[in-house]
Amino acid sequence: MSDYPTTLIEFQNRFPDNESCEAYLIAQRWPDGFSCPKCGHDEAYEFTRPERIFECRKCHHQASVKSGTLMHGSKLPLTIWFWAAWLMATHSNGISAKQLQRQLGLGSYKSAWLLCAKLRRAMVDPHRNPLNGLVEVDESSVPHRARDDPPDGGQGRSGEGKLLFAGAVEVDDEGRPGRIRLSKIDDHSAESLHDFIKRNIAAGSTAKTDGWSAYPGAPDVVHDPHVVGPMAAHVVLPWVHRVFSNLKTLALGVYHGLREDHFQSYLDEFTFRFNRRRNRPSAFRSLLQIATRIKPMTYNMLMASEAEG
Ligand SMILES: [Zn+2]
Repeated sequence: MSDYPTTLIEFQNRFPDNESCEAYLIAQRWPDGFSCPKCGHDEAYEFTRPERIFECRKCHHQASVKSGTLMHGSKLPLTIWFWAAWLMATHSNGISAKQLQRQLGLGSYKSAWLLCAKLRRAMVDPHRNPLNGLVEVDESSVPHRARDDPPDGGQGRSGEGKLLFAGAVEVDDEGRPGRIRLSKIDDHSAESLHDFIKRNIAAGSTAKTDGWSAYPGAPDVVHDPHVVGPMAAHVVLPWVHRVFSNLKTLALGVYHGLREDHFQSYLDEFTFRFNRRRNRPSAFRSLLQIATRIKPMTYNMLMASEAEG
């Protein structure tokens, strides 16, 4: 049996109840056996009331599989978390809080929104490795939609606004794209672009760019500039341009422009889907795995961090 279900029927057979979900989550959180979240000791007493509780034999700290994770304190049953993770991971363009609320029969929009926002946090692995090897780097922008604008764009002045972002794509020896990274940036200055490169590309890699004057001097990477006119950039940097164009099509077609306060989470979600495009069911496991590795987040924390970006 593979480590994750690959079809809807398999998913349904494998996770019919909370016990099966709990067992799966325990295996994701503690693949090498229990480790006390407080002291790291590896032996526990186990009892069920009604969820499984692990009591550390050394420091007597008690933890469920959800304690101290993204799922900490959630009143939703694990089956709902699993369905939400499955739907979010396997839909090619993602699923909105409204759709999730309807499909899972959740009582309130707020709890659907919270579930969605939390799972979106689990789309960024805090321990992910930076891109390496040959990496195409470029920057671009998407139209910006203000909070009060109608979703169809309307006549508002905000249509003029642009959200700037930088992107990078690994290219393998055969010229095919690997993983990507996307990040919003304040401007096209050397400072912003060097910071993007530093955070996302491993030292010793080669950054291939269009020769924009802000790129040279980026720390720790070999710079490979290709000075081109605007018409030819897609020839020199084909993959990063394809990624940008898919991202814009989605942003305009599905989301009708993006809001500034959600911009980075949108980029993170796009990156998560792209990097797992060859195996969407494995994205389901990734979401749950990462969810067990990141700290709890409350509604207010999520609202505040979305607002400040
Ligand atoms: Zn302990």
